[in-house]
Amino acid sequence: MNAQVDKVYEQVVARNRGEVEFHQAVREVLDSLTPALEGHPEYTENGLLERLVEPERQIVFRVPWVDDAGNVQVNRGFRIEFNSALGPYKGGLRFHPSVNIGIIKFLGFEQIFKNALTGQGIGGGKGGSDFDPHGKSDAEVMRFCQSFMTELSRHIGPNTDVPAGDIGVGGREIGYLFGQYKRLRNRYDAGVLTGKGLGFGGSLARTEATGYGTVLFAQSMLGTKGDSLEGKTVAVSGSGNVAIYAVEKLQALGGKAVTISDSSGYVVDEAGIDLDLLKQVKEVERGRVADYAARRPGARVATGGSVWQVPCDVALPCATQNELDGDAAATLVKNGCGVVAEGANMPSTPEAIEVFQKAGILYAPGKAANAGGVATSALEMEQNASRTRWDFETANAKLTDIMADIHDSCVETAERYGQPGNYVLGANVTGFTRVADVMIAHGII
Ligand code: NDP
Repeated sequence: MNAQVDKVYEQVVARNRGEVEFHQAVREVLDSLTPALEGHPEYTENGLLERLVEPERQIVFRVPWVDDAGNVQVNRGFRIEFNSALGPYKGGLRFHPSVNIGIIKFLGFEQIFKNALTGQGIGGGKGGSDFDPHGKSDAEVMRFCQSFMTELSRHIGPNTDVPAGDIGVGGREIGYLFGQYKRLRNRYDAGVLTGKGLGFGGSLARTEATGYGTVLFAQSMLGTKGDSLEGKTVAVSGSGNVAIYAVEKLQALGGKAVTISDSSGYVVDEAGIDLDLLKQVKEVERGRVADYAARRPGARVATGGSVWQVPCDVALPCATQNELDGDAAATLVKNGCGVVAEGANMPSTPEAIEVFQKAGILYAPGKAANAGGVATSALEMEQNASRTRWDFETANAKLTDIMADIHDSCVETAERYGQPGNYVLGANVTGFTRVADVMIAHGII
């Protein structure tokens, strides 16, 4: 790191004590910006880094609700409006017991660069709550969502801040949130949330977009070596929205996903994941991966270790942050894995990234590889604004083009800075430059 980067990082740690995931995300970005800063004194003169690491607005609020037994429950809600240089704040809502302000800030910070990479004029934000939807009835989830939106509705709008889903927030939650927003504001602002149901302004291909996009990105990475996913064995972690549609796209491109996981353990299915059964268990029944294994001959459940112990050609982490550590990375490399594309946000620890880069395998960070989700959310906003609805092929074709463009931008930037194949540098420098130049144009705000 150069001296200025060091100083900014130390300020971030001092000012945001205990927010370890946020520190990690900032460090990963700042570390790779040095070459971009060197030829550009205007970034330093305009306090770009100092402004970039400080959210424009941080909203923290009480979310009271009543459970089915009549007890009052209190959760904490967050919305971090991080950077609006390129457009309205855009980023998902996460409902998970581990959520705290540091996790939402790391996600919001990542989102700035990811959204810039899409080229669609969207700023960076993120939100959520420490509410756990697991084991809650639909009525409880609805009451929680209504209470959460009662506060959030003051801060969002189609040209201000446009939330979407993330871990624990899918179509059901977005429906309840949208209903409450409409009721409170007396406005049918279709563009205030994305990931909506198809009957009220949702976009075809949004459900599939993050998983599809991650696999398309992996395909492009392999393409730089004259290779493809055809015939490849793939380890996938997670079993939620991103993992399911990564498996679907992998199968369409001739790859074989042999693992899925959740927080209770993982399943190995050497014959290849049965997609229909996976969707039935996870999307229809809201079950666990163990329920999948119980109904799938030949599949086995493992409770110790992680999916990364299963030999594979390609790894797609699609669960959560820091799920792939240095040891797991070393195991993947030892077993011959040549490509890692992140469907989740920051799933690889800094030690894991170092292992991948030292081994010279293809590694793409989430802000590039999983940008298809937010890109298709921006396509949903576009359809809402023009009151049109594209068919699946149209939306999917646009997603495919955007992912190819993000991939190529990362590759070109990495080459321009003399580090061919370094997708971390490519993604961070491309995203940073797009945001930084606009922040300079807007003046010191
Ligand atoms: P879902 O809630 O649909 O699924 C999350 C999956 O990850 C579940 O299988 C869950 O298991 C598992 N998981 C979550 N937390 C943990 C944990 N602490 N330990 C082990 N497993 C865990 O979320 P998504 O699929 O939407 O999101 C997955 C990742 O992709 C996240 O990092 C998210 O930020 C990222 N992402 C999502 C986008 C989207 O469009 N949905 C867009 C871009 C990135 P369990 O049920 O046991 O908790």
